[in-house]
Amino acid sequence: MTVWIDADLCNGCKRCEKACPYEGVEMRDGKAHILERCTSCGACIESCKQEAILTDAKPREIPDFSDRQGVWVFAEQRGGALHSVSLELLGKARELASFLNQEVSAVLLGNGVEDLAETLIQYGADYVVLVEDPRLAQYRTMVYTHAIEQLIRRFKPNIFLMGATHIGRDLAPRVSRRVAVGLTADCTELTIDPDEKILLQTRPAFGGNIMATIANRFSRPQMATVRPGVMEQRVQPGKTGDIIRETLSIADTDIKTTILDIVREAKKKGDLGKAKIIVAGGRGVGDVEGFKVLENLAEVLGGQVAGTRVAVEEDWISADRQVGQTGQSVRPELYIACGISGAIQHRAGIVNARYIVAINRDERAPIFQVADWGIVGDLHELVPEMIRQLESGK
Ligand SMILES: Cc1cc2nc3c(=O)[nH]c(=O)nc-3n(C[C@H](O)[C@H](O)[C@H](O)COP(=O)(O)OP(=O)(O)OC[C@H]3O[C@@H](n4cnc5c(N)ncnc54)[C@H](O)[C@@H]3O)c2cc1C
Repeated sequence: MTVWIDADLCNGCKRCEKACPYEGVEMRDGKAHILERCTSCGACIESCKQEAILTDAKPREIPDFSDRQGVWVFAEQRGGALHSVSLELLGKARELASFLNQEVSAVLLGNGVEDLAETLIQYGADYVVLVEDPRLAQYRTMVYTHAIEQLIRRFKPNIFLMGATHIGRDLAPRVSRRVAVGLTADCTELTIDPDEKILLQTRPAFGGNIMATIANRFSRPQMATVRPGVMEQRVQPGKTGDIIRETLSIADTDIKTTILDIVREAKKKGDLGKAKIIVAGGRGVGDVEGFKVLENLAEVLGGQVAGTRVAVEEDWISADRQVGQTGQSVRPELYIACGISGAIQHRAGIVNARYIVAINRDERAPIFQVADWGIVGDLHELVPEMIRQLESGK
């Protein structure tokens, strides 16, 4: 594929020079000139208002996807308990499906899990595609991947959403590879493009410094994962739906793993995603002793303790307590940020908090830009004082 300039049409506006991500265009004597390092990506062609940039490449045709229907959600369950993210995704799926005039299906895999179908319907599913088999009783990558690939090939969904949980992060890329489509991980927003009716998948990029919106025009299903706590659950009491039963067709000899034993980690201190009040600490807290004071405040308020990546790296709190882009997204009523600067990667995890209180001794700390109340001061004085006043009922 070659790209060239029609010098008679070029007015030297330099738009193409700015649009080229590879510095493959330069101005010579007031006209654009294509350099050898041009990769023929086409960015300059789109930028040119004069239609002075020409190519011999044929535009890629968008296939006919009219047979791809429905918004699917992977209904993740463990030991017969649904993961909250699946219910959150059903709420979003409903919204997307209404826009597209399509239906919502939840894909439920397991053994003896049919009872969960009713909940999935109440949270937005029109259909529950149920596959029950003893070999699906516990999550295993190959068996689950096979089952979902089989369902996608059979039912041809338009959109497929999964939670960015440990299971989802393992399963989604495998499935997307099997059915040869792209996958946008850790989306923070999902909408439908009103003109093209395709899924717009927004997620942080370049270390969280920009939000990128990704669209997939050329393959189906459009696949995305979303972290727990990002979307809202929307229960619809009285909603009805149908169960579609499917069977698993995989030979035992094709299953390469056997579960010998399940060793459960010691119970963690409550689910951050569900906490109504969170007291979070950052580098400013200083040490483990400092976090004990935050724990006291959390206890008085009936909340939980969390922190920044720095607090995790310093080993002041465990990794499951990290809030932010690479930690958890939370949606408490109250988030008290103590000694946290408010880096964009941390803020990405608290956008859904109802009220944010920030304590920081630097009045220019970015956390104050998102805080509903800001207290400029030393947290080592302020937090014990807050505990004292709360305990004395002031
Ligand atoms: C790809 C990527 C992903 C990331 N993911 C995450 C993530 O998920 N979560 C996350 O948190 N970070 C994440 N980070 C790191 C993030 O960029 C910041 O480095 C981190 O959030 C800063 O943590 P902090 O606020 O604790 O520390 P700092 O930025 O050092 O801020 C400490 C703050 O404490 C204040 N302070 C100090 N002493 C006191 C005191 N006595 N009283 C009151 N205030 C005081 C200071 O004024 C300062 O504002 C990520 C970074 C990258 C590149």
